[in-house]
Amino acid sequence: MAITLFSHPSCYLHLAGDDHPEQPARLSAINDQLIRSGLEFIVQQRDATPARAEDLYHVHSKLYVDEIYAKKPEDGHIWLDPDTQMMKHSLNAALHAAGATINAVDQVMSDTNQQAFCNVRPPGHHATRSQAMGFCIFNNIAIAAAYALEHYQLSRVAIVDFDVHHGNGTEDIFAADERVLFCSSFQYPLYPNTGEHPSASNIENLPLPALCKPAIWREQILQHWLPRINEFKPQLILVSAGFDGHREDDMAQFLLTEADYQWIAQQLKQLADQYCQGRIVAALEGGYALSALGRSVVAFLKGLM
Ligand SMILES: [Zn+2]
Repeated sequence: MAITLFSHPSCYLHLAGDDHPEQPARLSAINDQLIRSGLEFIVQQRDATPARAEDLYHVHSKLYVDEIYAKKPEDGHIWLDPDTQMMKHSLNAALHAAGATINAVDQVMSDTNQQAFCNVRPPGHHATRSQAMGFCIFNNIAIAAAYALEHYQLSRVAIVDFDVHHGNGTEDIFAADERVLFCSSFQYPLYPNTGEHPSASNIENLPLPALCKPAIWREQILQHWLPRINEFKPQLILVSAGFDGHREDDMAQFLLTEADYQWIAQQLKQLADQYCQGRIVAALEGGYALSALGRSVVAFLKGLM
């Protein structure tokens, strides 16, 4: 079964700042590794279409969305928060990043390719209902979830976030929304220093210490996420796929390797096969050590196959 990979040239044009780790080379590193691994011929590559403002209003306040459209600078840049910069190409990149996840939902809900990966930036999982944060402008995976709930009238969507940082934006958007189960594993304490105590019963957080061994991370997932997901019986699984927990990534101090990303993909694929005809949509979040990022995404895709 092929995997569909959504991306768009505009996602390469957003610049997050001089020497900023969230750089266009991240997408190239993934593409290069796809070619090197031979997976290039197995994945079906598609250009994403931009999200519409109406799609964004389902998860972000209208005030926030309209402000982002209005703030788009013609030259230079503005800061949306201390880590998040916007320049003239940023809005278009963010709309295509969010749009890719919507395209991917349409793909897995209606086609024979039931797994999709969105190779996009800027990332999304720190963006809250009303605030850009941590390199994120729009919450791509939350927008996909809201679209799936609305457009396909689903009643149970699981979002799994294995980025090394807590998906605080996604938790903010879906806390107490019983149609969504949100599972986030992350290093704690670490930016954004949230998530130690989940804000609602539909949130399953796994705060883990720095230097936590991969075996512990796996064990925690088996003990806490799998029973929750089995009980929830999702109709669609969405993934905030961040690879900054890799041992070569100095954004944090997790010790994960490619094998762990392949393992989590296999776990999610088994659950998706059991409950939702294999339907999985993953979107890139973090991952800043370029070589490790490329290898990890390839391992993750292999795990989905
Ligand atoms: Zn991260």
